[in-house]
Amino acid sequence: GPVLADGAMGGRTLIIGSTGFIGRFIAEACLDSGCPTYLLVRSGSSAFTTKAQTIHSLQNKGATIIIGTITDEKLMEKILEEHKIEVVISAVGGKSILDQLQLITAIKSVGTVKRFLPSEFGHDIERAYPVEPGLRMYNEKRQVRRAIEEVGIPYTYICCNSIAAWPYHDNTHPADVLPPLDLFHIYGDGNVKAYFVAGTDIGRLTMKVINDNRTINKAVHFRPPNNLLSINELASLWEKKINRNLPRVTITEDDLLNAANEMRIPESIVAAFTHDIFIQGCQINFALDRPTDVEATSLYPDTPFRSIDDCFDDFVSGILDGRVMSEKPATGSADGIKLPVSEAYAI
Ligand code: NDP
Repeated sequence: GPVLADGAMGGRTLIIGSTGFIGRFIAEACLDSGCPTYLLVRSGSSAFTTKAQTIHSLQNKGATIIIGTITDEKLMEKILEEHKIEVVISAVGGKSILDQLQLITAIKSVGTVKRFLPSEFGHDIERAYPVEPGLRMYNEKRQVRRAIEEVGIPYTYICCNSIAAWPYHDNTHPADVLPPLDLFHIYGDGNVKAYFVAGTDIGRLTMKVINDNRTINKAVHFRPPNNLLSINELASLWEKKINRNLPRVTITEDDLLNAANEMRIPESIVAAFTHDIFIQGCQINFALDRPTDVEATSLYPDTPFRSIDDCFDDFVSGILDGRVMSEKPATGSADGIKLPVSEAYAI
């Protein structure tokens, strides 16, 4: 493979889930890093316009598209062998976590993959205990971890914490949606902190991790000190950006538990995670004291993380040039910025 900036060799990398929210960031970063990039795309994906556009744009940047599903074990073996895949990164969504069990069997029987990253990209699922239906997803991710460890494939678990965006308790992909323009929902007392990391940084750091021997069989935690904020602080920062103060409405612990209890998928899963983050403090209530823990800013002290301030600037410029809009149309509009009459969200 090509020589990366830090001297490491970028291996032939297969990414699963590149049409998804997290997977797209990984695919873009993989192409940027110069690694030979292979994307597994399910047939039928291209039936949806935005997904087809994503695939085309990644293909134009040099990705090789392979049609298939990870549940087809024989096909996966063939793909891994034919393309001499060295690194596999999975970013399948919450519904497909257990699909990875067949992929793990295929990786095991081919025997040439040097690193596997299962679909994690959130909290340390061994140390976080969300209520149902969040717990169910964590149990599946735990099952995937055990399967990987059992077959002995070198792995890395990416625990990147929250996406840099407003943490709506009823939206799976918050970075697609503007922070509020009418009122803030503040969870509990609003003082529990969380790490907010830009999607592009999740991609960039993931690419460093796969080529780094220090991350073999480790959980890599993203804890950039400057990206640690409470929701009260996040609200104040957004108010500065839009030049306007918004009312703050408290969403209590019980409100979040009730939303989780409704068992609406995926909204209730998000409510369960919101409760875990902003009431139970699941990102900050444990020390990185296990031999399997490594921390991203310690590994890569020269790689700055984008600040939440910069990410919020992106939302403001996105509003101004019509790139972003609120999925749930805001009931009010902000002074100082005009809302676009945009139909689509484009990246
Ligand atoms: P999405 O649902 O947005 O995308 C899932 C992707 O996986 C799609 O490209 C989908 O393809 C593909 N896929 C699913 N099943 C298969 C299969 N059997 N074979 C091949 N491809 C498949 O996922 P998310 O980005 O929401 O989630 C990815 C991971 O990131 C999850 O582990 C999730 O928990 C985590 N996450 C973390 C967040 C955070 O804030 N830290 C936020 C959101 C997610 P297709 O297009 O065909 O459906």
